[in-house]
Amino acid sequence: AKAAGRRQWCRFQPHLHTGMMERRALQLSLEEAVQGAEFRLRYQPIVELSTGRIVGLEALARWPTSQHGVLLPDRFIALAEETGHIVQLGAWVLESATRDLAAWRATDAAGGELRVSVNMSARQLREPGFVDLVRDALASSGLPPGALLLELTESILMGRDENIEADLLALKELGVGLAIDDFGTGYSSLSYLRELPIDMIKIDKSFVRDIARSPADLRLTDGIVRIAATLGLSAVAEGIESAEQRDLLADIGCRYGQGYLYSRPLPPEEVADLLRTTNRG
Ligand code: C2E
Ligand code: CA
Ligand code: CA
Ligand code: CA
Repeated sequence: AKAAGRRQWCRFQPHLHTGMMERRALQLSLEEAVQGAEFRLRYQPIVELSTGRIVGLEALARWPTSQHGVLLPDRFIALAEETGHIVQLGAWVLESATRDLAAWRATDAAGGELRVSVNMSARQLREPGFVDLVRDALASSGLPPGALLLELTESILMGRDENIEADLLALKELGVGLAIDDFGTGYSSLSYLRELPIDMIKIDKSFVRDIARSPADLRLTDGIVRIAATLGLSAVAEGIESAEQRDLLADIGCRYGQGYLYSRPLPPEEVADLLRTTNRG
C-alpha cells in the first residue's frame, strides 16, 4: 500500500509541479518574446468554394522558442490575455498582418480584392485607443479599411460593455469588416447579430467536422448558413478537410471556407506563390 501510495505521489505531484514551473517559465519568456517581437504569423487562405479562388487570408500567431519548438496559440494566447501581454502582441499582429497584406495586394494575382482577417481578444478591445490602433495600422500600411476583417468571438460580444459597442460602431464607420469567430459555440442569444454591425459569420469547425456523417450537424450548419443569408452576412466554414465536406457546404449555400483541404496556415513567403498559382486567370 505504501509503495502504491508513493508511486501515486510520484505520478501526480511532479506533474503538477512541472505544470506550475512551466507556466511561470512561459510567463517570463512571454515577456521577453513580446518585447523582442519574437512571434511569427502564418496565413491560412479563405477561398470561394465554387471557384477555389483565394479571397482572404487569416493571420494566425506562432511563437518559435528554442526550448519548446514552435508554440501554437493554445499555449500562449490565454496566458497573454491574463498577463495583459496580449495588448502588445495583438498590436504587433495587426501591424504585421496589414503590412503583409499590402504587399500581396500589390501583386497582380491578388486582384486588389484580397482581405486579411485578424483575431482579436476581449482584452484588446477594452484597451483605450483601440480604434486608433486600427486606424494607425491601416494608415501605415496604406490599406483601405475594407481590406481588414477583425474576428471576434461571441463571448466578447455577449459580455460587451458600452465602450466596446461604441468602438465596434466606430470601426464599422471607418469601413473595417467584423466577423463572428467560432459561431455557434458561445452563448446562444442571437440578439447581438441585429444590434451590432457584423459582416460575416465563421462557422466553427466543430460543426463542419462531422457534416458528412451526421445529418443533425448538416441541418445545424444549414440553419447557420440560412441565418447568415437572412441577415445579409457572408458565411465562412472553418476546418474543411475533405472534398465531401466542401461539396455539402457548397450545396447548402455556404459561399466561403478554409481548411486543410485548401491549405494549412502558411509562412508569408509561401503566400505570394500560392496566390500566383491559385488566383491566376
Ligand atoms: P481560430 O481563429 O478558430 O483559428 C482556426 C484554427 O483552426 C487555427 O488554429 C488553424 O490552424 C486551425 N485549422 C485550420 N484549418 C483546419 C482544418 O482543416 N482542420 C482543423 N482541425 N483545424 C484547422 P491555430 O492556428 O492553432 O489557432 C488557434 C486559435 O488561437 C485561433 O482559433 C484563434 O482563436 C487563436 N489565435 C490565433 N492567432 C491569434 C492572434 O493573433 N490573436 C488572438 N487573440 N488569437 C489568436
Ligand atoms: Ca479566427
Ligand atoms: Ca474560428
Ligand atoms: Ca477556434
